[in-house]
Amino acid sequence: MNKEIVFQEFLGGRVRLVEGDITRLDVDAIVNAANKSLLGGGGVDGAIHRAAGPQLVEACKKIGGCETGNAVITPGFNLKARYVIHTVGPVWQGGNHDEPGLLASCYRKSLELASQHPIKSIAFTNISTGIYGFPKEAAAQVAINTTTKFLEINDLSSIVWFVCFDKENYNLYLSHLSSKY
Ligand code: ADP
Repeated sequence: MNKEIVFQEFLGGRVRLVEGDITRLDVDAIVNAANKSLLGGGGVDGAIHRAAGPQLVEACKKIGGCETGNAVITPGFNLKARYVIHTVGPVWQGGNHDEPGLLASCYRKSLELASQHPIKSIAFTNISTGIYGFPKEAAAQVAINTTTKFLEINDLSSIVWFVCFDKENYNLYLSHLSSKY
């Protein structure tokens, strides 16, 4: 359970916002901001691989890679989460390389995968807003708009968590979610 975790609820409880470390969350699936190789890296990717244990990279090796904007699923191994969904966010290249479209695709494909598995709760990190350099304000809008639209259209019964590791992202999400929902 997530008893010790303080979160805010939106959209009638279907969306939750929390500040913290995604590897510690007790949910059915966490979404990793992976790179195309799927073999681990820095940031949240490194944290997830460390917490899941070496079996995770073995499972990722078998998949063989993932394109930008796409998502794949593995078990969560030593994590509390039963699944890890690995999605590859776009590297920010100034905004004229379909970065918002590719980021939206990451959220959509991850939610599609969730809807095809026994996943009742899924947690997203702030994909592409670290090493990949996507502006945080724009990324928060893409994440929230894409997710809420998916929930409305697909009637997905999962609870979606937005997990913000840094205060800046948390405040952006809080303000955007509060103003809309
Ligand atoms: P990307 O390469 O997609 O930018 P990063 O891992 O560098 O991926 O950053 C993505 C986001 O994940 C950033 O906002 C960063 O603050 C956040 N992050 C880093 N570590 C964690 C963690 N343990 N839990 C949740 N989010 C994290």
